[in-house]
Amino acid sequence: MSGTDKSKAGLALDGPIVILVEPQLGENIGMAARAMGNFALSSLRIVNPRDGWPNIAAQRAAAGADHILERVELFDTVEQAVADLDLLFATSARAHDQAKPVVGPEAAATEMAGHIATGGKAGILFGRERWGLTNEEVGLSNRIVTFPVNPGFASLNLAQAVLLIGYEWFKRATSGELPHTMPERSERASQHQIQAFFENLIRELDKVEFLRPAEKRDTMLVNLRNIFTRMDPTKQDMHTLHGVVMAIAEGRKGPAKGGVLDGEQATRLRALLAEHGQGGGVSDSGSTVRGLARLLRRNPTDAERLLWQSLTRDRRFAGQFKRQTPVGRHIPDFVSFPHRIAIELVNPGEGETIAADRAARRAWLEARDYRVIEMRAVDVERDLEAELLRLQGMIAEGPSAS
Ligand code: SAH
Repeated sequence: MSGTDKSKAGLALDGPIVILVEPQLGENIGMAARAMGNFALSSLRIVNPRDGWPNIAAQRAAAGADHILERVELFDTVEQAVADLDLLFATSARAHDQAKPVVGPEAAATEMAGHIATGGKAGILFGRERWGLTNEEVGLSNRIVTFPVNPGFASLNLAQAVLLIGYEWFKRATSGELPHTMPERSERASQHQIQAFFENLIRELDKVEFLRPAEKRDTMLVNLRNIFTRMDPTKQDMHTLHGVVMAIAEGRKGPAKGGVLDGEQATRLRALLAEHGQGGGVSDSGSTVRGLARLLRRNPTDAERLLWQSLTRDRRFAGQFKRQTPVGRHIPDFVSFPHRIAIELVNPGEGETIAADRAARRAWLEARDYRVIEMRAVDVERDLEAELLRLQGMIAEGPSAS
């Protein structure tokens, strides 16, 4: 059965004897036996079970507590069933108005454990489902056990009453030790390791001026440090946290950041995109075009990078051009909306498709009063200023008078 450690099935503590007085339902007897097994009680006595014995319903409900049912002792009277005991408890939800101590289940468990430990024999009576124990039966016992319950709904199911007693008794007998605990974690982090992580964290937090205002800094540091010391970090925890802090501090890397292609790779990517993206029908949807533009923006070729630097920093052009920005469904490399000028970079070794594509784009742009200037990437790389002068001249010329 799940949750059952067969190697420990034999665990049978020397516990009190459970006595069911005239139980009516086999199911309750079986469930009581099961509860007893759960808490390592093994001696079950039954006084006059209503449906006789053995009882198939009891066996079914016992769910494996057969060892308890097989050794059940049957009695005709309660007196006989308790004759050999020297400490007897009677469980009851009701006040029986007898001059007899009334205790809770914990106190009963403690007293029984002490009694058994000194060689005594303790038992506990449970009454019938219908009407519990008679006054006479309660009169036989030394103490009454009653559970702390809702006074307006005090009566428990018989087997559940057995379970509560078993639970309290077992807790007491085993000092509440749990059968399993959190698995061993990796080795605890050393003070040294925590310090190193923390210093690192502070350094990064200082970079972003997190620890402000200055007069609160010390308190913030103590609070912050306590978060980590309180959690008893393992060495692995510290590695992980360190990695997390550094990843955030250093920013996106690799593909997430984008600029992973060198100039030559970027050139090839642009060519590919031009052929498969802008050219064909694939780019029909605006979002695809924008997505490609974003990709291109993140992967500039060397020529693009050079030109873009000038277009942003050179006083003659600064603020007038945009990069990889769609004009309609086209994306010229650079475009100036105020001047209505598009700059096209011509990469070495371009195929016919790309050339045709550029021609189509040029026609489309010119039809909308854009002037298109083509710059060969090699020229940009070789003599940038010459290309810039060409551009400057075009701007000075002003819009075409078409
Ligand atoms: N109708 C019965 C209750 C029967 S419950 C009556 O009024 O007494 C079956 C048995 O479970 C009870 O005889 C008693 O042994 C136990 N039991 C049920 N509720 C209990 C409680 N609140 N405190 C102690 N024992 C209880």
